[in-house]
Formats: sequence, structure tokens, C-alpha cells
Amino acid sequence: MGLSIFDACLITEELAYACTGMQTAMEANSLGAYCVTEPGAGSDVAGLKTRAVKMGDEYVVNGQKMWITNGGKANWYFLLARTNPDPKCPASKAFTGFIVDADTPGIQLGRKEMNMGQRCSDTRGITFEEVRIPKENVLIAEGAGFKIAMGAFDNTRPPHQAVSFLLAEMAMKVELARMAYQRSAWEVDQGRRNTYYASIAKAFAGDIANQVATDAVQVFGGNGFNSEYPVEKLMRDAKIYQVRNIFY
Ligand SMILES: Cc1cc2nc3c(=O)[nH]c(=O)nc-3n(C[C@H](O)[C@H](O)[C@H](O)COP(=O)(O)OP(=O)(O)OC[C@H]3O[C@@H](n4cnc5c(N)ncnc54)[C@H](O)[C@@H]3O)c2cc1C
Repeated sequence: MGLSIFDACLITEELAYACTGMQTAMEANSLGAYCVTEPGAGSDVAGLKTRAVKMGDEYVVNGQKMWITNGGKANWYFLLARTNPDPKCPASKAFTGFIVDADTPGIQLGRKEMNMGQRCSDTRGITFEEVRIPKENVLIAEGAGFKIAMGAFDNTRPPHQAVSFLLAEMAMKVELARMAYQRSAWEVDQGRRNTYYASIAKAFAGDIANQVATDAVQVFGGNGFNSEYPVEKLMRDAKIYQVRNIFY
């Protein structure tokens, strides 16, 4: 519509206020459907295994993509695939971006994933088996794909070792929450009133349960958001400890 990015952000905020799932489904349209992540490579885009091999005027693509928003709805995809098989080739030259029609033979859609949230947004795996793409569908040039894909990302990335630091902090918090409830229980067992310690334990452990469950979802990446893994349940179940007054 010729709007500025600022205008787009204002509209996005309004849509997300009503439903972030609807907003994601609409916003992802600007990417077609963006086929970058794979079952074994998410944050590490340079680790993608999907291959595109040039044969005459076509590229033949084989590989598997995962977590593709609008994967089952889009008419065309942006696909990132490795075109240079040499492991020493730098990522900035090894990948190529393609525009792929969704009805090209050899494309198989996975089932719609059941995620923790934004369930109205269609997310699924897509398999490419001997998919033939005309060379005219290469974006910019062969080898330019990594820069195109990275340009679409938010360039803030977590610092190295972020996960191990996070795990250490989670362990410390759990230990302290455990000590808080144990102190409270011990006071009662000593025949003393424990109101002060019980209140601290309830408030502190409830918050920690939520922080740690949320961090666990983060550590699992995309899988953490999916109902096949246990951490999204931990996150949903933890919330009540900050809300409920009786029993806990
Ligand atoms: C609902 C949904 C929609 C999605 N839509 C799309 C889409 O349209 N197109 C698409 O291509 N992908 C999509 N994705 C995939 C998403 O981009 C990936 O899940 C994300 O890149 C993380 O990758 P991963 O799941 O493999 O987790 P991992 O890469 O295994 O990451 C797990 C955890 O480790 C951390 N981590 C990883 N590497 C490092 C490092 N070097 N230093 C510090 N911390 C690190 C991460 O921050 C994360 O917390 C979607 C995912 C979901 C859940």
C-alpha cells in the first residue's frame, strides 16, 4: 500500500492487540511463506542442509523445512537452500534464495502443528523432494541467499553461551525457591507460626516457577512452543501459582 515501516508497525500493534495469532498470519504474508528453518537448524541458519543442484536451466531441490508460518496457505514460498556443497565455502556465498510456487510437484506439506499459542496461524513442516525450480526464480543471484535471509531477521542475537548462563540462573532460582518453602514448613514443624515465611515462599516460588518455565520454553526454541514437548505445559500450569490463594 506504499505505507512506511512506521505505519506498518502501528497497524501491526493494533492487530496484535486483538489477536497476535491473526497478526502473525497476516504479517507473514509479506514473506510469502518464509522457508528457512529446518528440523536440525533454526538459529544456526548456516547449518541448513536443504540442497539445490543446478541442472541445465533448473535447480533440483531436496530437503526438509520446519515451522513454516502460512506453509499450508501460501501460493508461493521464499526458499533458502544450499547451492555450494563445499563445507569450506562461507555461508555468505553458499546459499541461494528462490521463489517457489506452492503447487510445484515434489512439495509435500506436513500437518498443521499444535502450538502453545497463536493457533490460528498455520505453522507446518514442508518437504521438498526432487522439486524443480526454473533458474529465473533465483532471487538476485546464486550465492546471495544468506544475505537476503539474514536481512529479513531481526539482527539482535543472544550472546554466546546464553543458554548455559540461563540454565545456571534457573538452577539457582529453583534452589532458592525450594529453601523458602522448606523454611516455611520447618517453622510449622517447630510449633511456630509461619505466616511470614509461608507468604515469602508462596510469592517467591510462584514467580520463580513462571520465570523458569518460560525460560525452559526459550531453551527448547521452536519445539518449546509446541504441544508435543512438555515445557509449554509447565509454562501454562505454572501460571496458577501466581494467581491462586488457597492451597498454594
Ligand atoms: C510458531 C512458529 C512459527 C515459525 N515461523 C517460521 C517461519 O515462518 N519460517 C522459518 O524459517 N522459521 C520459522 N520458525 C522457526 C524459528 O525461527 C526457529 O524456531 C528459531 O529460529 C529457533 O530455532 P530452533 O527452534 O531450531 O531452536 P534452536 O536453534 O535449537 O535454539 C534453542 C535455544 O538456543 C538458543 N541459541 C541457539 N543458538 C545459540 C547461540 N549460538 N548462542 C546463544 N543461544 C543460542 C536460542 O535462542 C533458543 O533459546 C517458527 C517457529 C515457531 C515456533
